[in-house]
Amino acid sequence: MTEKGHASLKEPYLPQVDHSPRKSAWRRFRQIESREWWLWAFAVAVTLILTAGIISLTIFQRETAAYSAYWSDLNDWARGLAALVLLFDVYTMYQQLQLQRIRRQLAHRNQLFELITENAADMIAVVDNNGQRLYNSPAYEKVLGYSEEELKSTSSLDQIHPDDQQKVLNAAEQARGTGRGQRLEYRMRHKDQSWRTLESTASVIRNTKGEAEGLVIVNRDITERKRAEELLAHNALHDGLTDLPNRALFTDRVQRASLRARRSSGSQFAVLFIDVDGFKVFNDSLGHSIGDELLIQIGSRLAASFRQTDTISRASLNDSPTSDDTLARLGGDEFTVLLEEIREPSDAIRVAQRIQEKWAAPFFINGQEIVITTSIGIALGTSTSADAEGLLRDAEIAMYRAKRAGKSRFEVFDPAMHSNAVRRLRLETDLRKAVELGEFTAHYQPIVSLQTGKITGFEALTRWQRPEGIVMPGEFISVADETGLIIPMNRLLMRQSCEHLRSWHSQFPTKPLLTMSVNITPKQFALPELASEIGLMLEQTGLDPACLQLEIMETIVMGDPDNAARVLSQLKALGVRLGIDDFGTGYSSLSRLQHFRVDTLKIDRAFISKMDTDAESHEIVRLIIMLAHNLGLKVVAEGTETEEQVNQLKQLGCEMAQGYFFSKPIATDSIVKLLSSFQSAMKAVASGA
Ligand code: C2E
Ligand code: MG
Ligand code: MG
Repeated sequence: MTEKGHASLKEPYLPQVDHSPRKSAWRRFRQIESREWWLWAFAVAVTLILTAGIISLTIFQRETAAYSAYWSDLNDWARGLAALVLLFDVYTMYQQLQLQRIRRQLAHRNQLFELITENAADMIAVVDNNGQRLYNSPAYEKVLGYSEEELKSTSSLDQIHPDDQQKVLNAAEQARGTGRGQRLEYRMRHKDQSWRTLESTASVIRNTKGEAEGLVIVNRDITERKRAEELLAHNALHDGLTDLPNRALFTDRVQRASLRARRSSGSQFAVLFIDVDGFKVFNDSLGHSIGDELLIQIGSRLAASFRQTDTISRASLNDSPTSDDTLARLGGDEFTVLLEEIREPSDAIRVAQRIQEKWAAPFFINGQEIVITTSIGIALGTSTSADAEGLLRDAEIAMYRAKRAGKSRFEVFDPAMHSNAVRRLRLETDLRKAVELGEFTAHYQPIVSLQTGKITGFEALTRWQRPEGIVMPGEFISVADETGLIIPMNRLLMRQSCEHLRSWHSQFPTKPLLTMSVNITPKQFALPELASEIGLMLEQTGLDPACLQLEIMETIVMGDPDNAARVLSQLKALGVRLGIDDFGTGYSSLSRLQHFRVDTLKIDRAFISKMDTDAESHEIVRLIIMLAHNLGLKVVAEGTETEEQVNQLKQLGCEMAQGYFFSKPIATDSIVKLLSSFQSAMKAVASGA
């Protein structure tokens, strides 16, 4: 009876391998226990009856006549013995009760253990000191697919990933030494041959002498969690659109390359900064989903061409092929390449050239053929180079230089570029502040009719009023345009100029009315809402649209003639006048000009300033005036400084002139005075020739 009880006590943590009888174990235990109770009751009853017999016998004996001293002693002994037996019974009963209580507790714990191990999602295993499995919870089959028999026939190390086996053995050893092993991650093979990642902790089982007998190992399947973590880590370091490494990962790679170069002096590497020319135009005109698709295709073409070109360019170095990780997308249309261990700068140049050659073939997206070009900046890294961010910035500066030099080309960074870039950066910051503080005002330069000598209008020219003095547009307009700051800047200036003109109209109601010429930069010209904005402004200021003349540089118009024609007719529909500025500086096809709905041509200062001294310039001016007239356009001569120039222009039939000879650009408050005095004074000059 107790033997059986002990058998279940001895291994409360080792349930039977056979699962089904385990469910009735508790019932069996209750049967045994009740049987035990009966036996105990029987034993106690027998001793009680015996004791009662002895006591009654001795009492009965005392009342007989044959009572003697001998019987008296015997009776005393018998009573004493009966008392002892009674005490023993009571004590035994008490012990039995204790024992039953402990047994119940243990049985309850055993039942709990069974419940937990069998229902737990975690895999619980008991192994002996040789790694042989003594018990595996049912979760093993659910998670790893192995049946009880399959597990029994293998050792616990068999399914562990070879790379992780040593780690597991070390952890088991440690658990045996300290009583509890460290939390451990390792891979185990699923029956379907895939690897599952498990997280496990081991606790030691000790025998009565305190020696380690085996281990209880609790394994949790963390494959999904691991996958999610890996995905998150991947996303943190890769671009979501192209799946190429992102800025963080790229910078880290450059940093490592830089450290390697520092360790082995003489080794070089290069960073290529690739930017798609005019990507914004594609994105805005074709839509963002096509833009995204284009970026994906660019990414894969770059990856393919880079892998190829990089190995080609360095084949002689017998390098191992480079990994994709050296190609990254920083964001937008910016891609970067890290070329490690190049022999000399020309290696990087060769890679850049070959990447650019790859763009000749068009991309096809949604049946549309798209041809793109790229500008590439190259920064070379050596053992003494700046940090990764610095190199990336240098490559970007060189890329911008390539863009300014006409796109679809590459530039190698040099230190002069750096100081220019720093200056430019400062200018950008200052410009931003100046826009917020409203530090820009317009100066107005009169445009004079060469026939009448009267002022026909003005050109609004921006001045930046800084605390340290006035800054001329030549120093900031191009930067303002590239950064887009020109948009808020000129929106305000155009409105101001139109308002000023309105007030001059009321004071000087000339016939025709005075005009206002304002300049439009490339960024403004590309603004889809340009026409509607100007229309609204005209409505709000109440200015006659015919009094507003928009000057668009020849280079803007000729850059993309089809788009220019579309925008120009939108503007024309407002009723404003249009003029081509700085004519003669671009490569205008005059036949194109007739497709543009423009009213005037403004001949560039470069020709006017030399026309009285240089016969060729004079001839060019003559030809431009003639051709313009053929096209029905009026001509304005810009930068007229001398009387001789004025006379020659008049002879050539030029309608209008503008320049220091008449007036420099002047501030608003001087305009009224100028208008009053100028009209009569200039009339004499103009008509006297
Ligand atoms: P632009 O439109 O060709 O303006 C004419 C430039 O020639 C002005 O320079 C003017 O001051 C200068 N100029 C006029 N007459 C003479 C002369 O007889 N001799 C000489 N040497 N120069 C003369 P400024 O004001 O420095 O403007 C330069 C350029 O900046 C302008 O060229 C225009 O393209 C741009 N710009 C100026 N203000 C604005 C503006 O408000 N918005 C935009 N978008 N561009 C502007
Ligand atoms: Mg102009
Ligand atoms: Mg001009």
